[in-house]
Amino acid sequence: MQDSLSFDVAVIGAGPVGLACALEVQRRGLRVVVLDKGALVNSLVGYPTNMEFFSTPELLEIGGYPMSTLHYKPLREDALDYYRRVAQAENLTLRLYERVIGLEGEQDNFTVVTDKGRLHTRYVVVATGFYDLPNYLNVPGEDLSHVSHYYKEPYAHVGQDVVIIGAKNSAAKAALQLLRAGARPTLLVRGPEIPESVKYWIRPDLVNRIKEGRIGALFNSTATRITPGAVEVATPNGPQTLPAQFVYALTGYHPDFSFLSALGVACGTDAAQTPAHNAETLETNRPGLYLAGTVCGGRNTSRWFIENGRYHAQLIAARLAGEPAPALPSVVQPVQLAS
Ligand SMILES: Cc1cc2nc3c(=O)[nH]c(=O)nc-3n(C[C@H](O)[C@H](O)[C@H](O)COP(=O)(O)OP(=O)(O)OC[C@H]3O[C@@H](n4cnc5c(N)ncnc54)[C@H](O)[C@@H]3O)c2cc1C
Repeated sequence: MQDSLSFDVAVIGAGPVGLACALEVQRRGLRVVVLDKGALVNSLVGYPTNMEFFSTPELLEIGGYPMSTLHYKPLREDALDYYRRVAQAENLTLRLYERVIGLEGEQDNFTVVTDKGRLHTRYVVVATGFYDLPNYLNVPGEDLSHVSHYYKEPYAHVGQDVVIIGAKNSAAKAALQLLRAGARPTLLVRGPEIPESVKYWIRPDLVNRIKEGRIGALFNSTATRITPGAVEVATPNGPQTLPAQFVYALTGYHPDFSFLSALGVACGTDAAQTPAHNAETLETNRPGLYLAGTVCGGRNTSRWFIENGRYHAQLIAARLAGEPAPALPSVVQPVQLAS
């Protein structure tokens, strides 16, 4: 057990926004530690292997470090390498594979409790994102071994029937990639069509492959049961059974509300269950405890992303260092990024 370590700021979550917070705070002379229950930028580690960001590189940069990429849009590996280099260049104190489980005390005298020990800090920044908890379908068979809520790559599925539940960007990209890698994908879509929110360079490709019959699609349909080798579906024309050696339920994710509650953050009664925080300071209802990044939006996981969430770092760092609030670009007024 590690014990009795003292910091000015403990940042929970080593994602892009957590790292941005840590470096901004450290540059102002405060001692900071970053804790993550997994790897550095753990969410990005879990993204699809060959994933391409929607954002151009300069919109993902933190701390003024240029992100150089060979491509117009950065790949997952570009971003993994970039954030690792930034963390190293700033010599951030990282405690990886250490899960935060509780918070005792109060501002100026917090004790952060982890699964490996305790540390003391004056302030806490929670930048825990949303990617750890899938939105479950809650149908029988969802826990079978051939069902996953995280798509990585298509190569294990050559010549196989793959049902993809969902129709947002992640589902659309997975279906196209699976087709081109020799699988037989079918999309199960709750609504009447592929949503307009799917990116303009992805949607026509998908819609045309569905028209050609190369990607199957059932609209206004929902899964009712998953069995080894099949998905049972409720369709407007009655029940149907789709063959499926593999199933991807890509129906989104949500923040860990029980973790937030354990820290003493009140979660709203609105549809997004927005965690209580002051929009101008990002301080929660628990004085000295701040939120940053995607977690601020609650279930509205497209409200804050890297492009705009990274500016939370400057707001929080200035406040903790006793500086006036910085003037921030209009991007901090969020645009919607469909997941
Ligand atoms: C497929 C995909 C594509 C995307 N493309 C873009 C894009 O092009 N542009 C863009 O701006 N955004 C994009 N996003 C959104 C973006 O990746 C997220 O908004 C971003 O990762 C949020 O950063 P964050 O630091 O707030 O949270 P995260 O990156 O999710 O980091 C949270 C960290 O907290 C850690 N953690 C959680 N709980 C605990 C705990 N109890 N103790 C310790 N650590 C904990 C997690 O392990 C994780 O490392 C995309 C998202 C997805 C899923």
